[in-house]
Amino acid sequence: MSNTKKRNISVLGPEEFTGIKLQKPAEYAAGLPAVKVALQHAFKEMGVTKSIKTLSQMNQKEGFDCPGCAWPDPDKPSKLGEYCENGVKAIAEEATNKRVDKNFFAKYSVEELSHWSDYQIGKSGRLTEPMVLKPDSVHYEPISWQDAFKLIADKLKALDSPDEGVFYTSGRSSNEAAFLYGLFIRAFGTNNMPDCSNMCHESSGVALNETLGIGKGSVKLEDFDKAEVVMVIGQNPGTNHPRMLSALQKCKENGGKVISVNPLEEAGLIRFKNPQEIKGVLASGTALTDIHLQVKINQDVSLLKVILKKLASIDKEKEGVFDHEFIKTYTSGYENLLKDLETYSESELIELCGVEESVIDKAVQLLSQKSKIIICWAMGLTQHKNGVDNIKECVNLLLLKGSLGKPGSGTCPVRGHSNVQGDRTVGIMHHVSPVLNEAIKNTFGFVPPEKEGLDTVHAIQAMNQGRAKVFIALGGNFVSAASDTEYTAQALQNCDLTVNISTKLNRTHIVAGKTALILPTLGRSELDQKNGKPRFFTVENSMGKVHQSKGMLKPASENLISEPEIIGGIAQAYFKNDHPVNWKELSMDYELIREKIELVIKGFNGIKDKSKGSGFYLPNNVRDLDFSKLPEGKAQFSCCDLPKHVLKKDELLLMTIRSHDQFNTTIYGLDDRYRGIYNERRIVLMNPNDVSRHKLKKFDIINMISNYDDKERKASNFLIIPYNIPEGNIAAYFPETNVLVPYNHYADKSNTPISKSIVVTLETPVQ
Ligand code: SF4
Repeated sequence: MSNTKKRNISVLGPEEFTGIKLQKPAEYAAGLPAVKVALQHAFKEMGVTKSIKTLSQMNQKEGFDCPGCAWPDPDKPSKLGEYCENGVKAIAEEATNKRVDKNFFAKYSVEELSHWSDYQIGKSGRLTEPMVLKPDSVHYEPISWQDAFKLIADKLKALDSPDEGVFYTSGRSSNEAAFLYGLFIRAFGTNNMPDCSNMCHESSGVALNETLGIGKGSVKLEDFDKAEVVMVIGQNPGTNHPRMLSALQKCKENGGKVISVNPLEEAGLIRFKNPQEIKGVLASGTALTDIHLQVKINQDVSLLKVILKKLASIDKEKEGVFDHEFIKTYTSGYENLLKDLETYSESELIELCGVEESVIDKAVQLLSQKSKIIICWAMGLTQHKNGVDNIKECVNLLLLKGSLGKPGSGTCPVRGHSNVQGDRTVGIMHHVSPVLNEAIKNTFGFVPPEKEGLDTVHAIQAMNQGRAKVFIALGGNFVSAASDTEYTAQALQNCDLTVNISTKLNRTHIVAGKTALILPTLGRSELDQKNGKPRFFTVENSMGKVHQSKGMLKPASENLISEPEIIGGIAQAYFKNDHPVNWKELSMDYELIREKIELVIKGFNGIKDKSKGSGFYLPNNVRDLDFSKLPEGKAQFSCCDLPKHVLKKDELLLMTIRSHDQFNTTIYGLDDRYRGIYNERRIVLMNPNDVSRHKLKKFDIINMISNYDDKERKASNFLIIPYNIPEGNIAAYFPETNVLVPYNHYADKSNTPISKSIVVTLETPVQ
């Protein structure tokens, strides 16, 4: 271990206010304001000509996939533009004309940069050449690609065991890059592959695998056209997956109904003004939500149980409420579920969930009459101690209604990052898959490790405790994405080496290991070519469809190389030529990688040709109503417990949320337009009754404190905003509030941090 002088880093960044302005929350999403804001971002970052050129290729068949969320493109993309405001913001960040080069790093030390906000850091621009931060230095300096690869190889060789390495993946990487990365990590000898889905949809994967036999959703985009009811639970599509609103609009126009379940009434679910249509620009748009169930934070299971109980009573009286033929043919555990439901008191459940019974009854009436039902969800369900059960209760409802395996119905976990699902499909996972290992052995001639690897929360603990010493990240901003910011920062700082393969500067480059490398790579929109020949890669969207993505912009710097080439460079430096895989050759030739994916991963047969155009769907047993992998060969009903939150009088339940000017950890701006909050991120949304009960008023300053296992964590300086949120609940933005989420409290089975239900108290800061 080197004897490194400690750098003086501000892990949390500035905790100052930026000058709040408040307006009434919006009553619709998109429309002309969205177009205006999107173009402002694009023109400011890229200029007019480049903006027009870039946007004309985004989400088009021969173009590049939006680097934002994983919502699918229609088979026939509109020439008017197949993107949303946040997609434009995402591409404006990537294709910005600003650069972070060696002069930038010579001017600003990491100590100085650590006092910048995430917004300021992100706005610095694109990284242009490999940089190294040496143990006794506070300035990054240039390093050649070959020296960077050698440095990584030497550090990996110096480890006592391959399990001292941690290899993180964010959801931006292509299938080809992720496949090669997973292959190298296994060849190196570990399964320590935490990825961003550990922090978001892992609970969905676990619940869906256990109940339906596949960790992915079952719906296709066209199912929204046919759905009679779409339930949107714990999800805010207006900000996080904006083009989903077009799908909901189609559902409504075809006579379908939308039920939203959320502690907040989000503008995107109230009304949608589709900017691609005249009525979306000039008229009032489409009303989306028919019934809003304003559930208390983490009481979705209570609410769903009341709904199931009420449906079960109607089913006794009336035919066609539950699909008994479906239940008999395809499911197991129906009688147990009914018996279990009887043990709960309806009035207690109603009190727990906090929704008026008359509103619940409207939803029950609607659901009792319909069978083509889609349930969509996101982090509002997954990031709780009972995240897995939240999803299992949704599956219960779909199974009772027979709403699986037929048009207009099914499960729809809505994924965040654009290829988060694909990365997992092609082998990024900390679990051991004997089938995958066997296929790798047969195809590549080496035996992958059989020991379970570390997921995100356990990788952080290993680094914090000195059991892991090298951290390599294929994309992402780990310190801002993970829970317990100060603990995670210490984990990274303990490492002998941290490596970030990135397009833009972020806080994880600053909160770095003793030695740190930044390896800059091509963005989605950029031309990726070898020997004058353009290359394309593939991604998988939220609905299991694989398709190509081909960039066309001039790269931000001549010194950028692609992610597969970076992985190949590291592997080549590590193995030299002493390995059955020819890493150099494989990393240069994406067609060759695809040939290997086809041999190793089920469902990719013919990927070479099929990924062109609008792509192809991967196999999905739920669509085929094939539950043969599950006990008795049937889909499983589940008896789920109620979440327990016994709050003391002064305690509140906090959920972390995103602002509208934000995608994951990337902060595009300081406005949260739909919630009427401008130029400020240090805010807390609070019910007006709680505001008075706590003897507070609008714009009072508070600190939030969580206390788990006798450890106090504090997020300082937040402004109170009285808001329409259930009593006892508050909401504030992440990553600012990640500091409150204890690293060792996470969902049962999935280990997803409890970022949406953190018990906190408030204190007034000493002036
Ligand atoms: S909905 Fe998602 S994928 Fe589509 S343009 Fe918007 S951010 Fe990009």
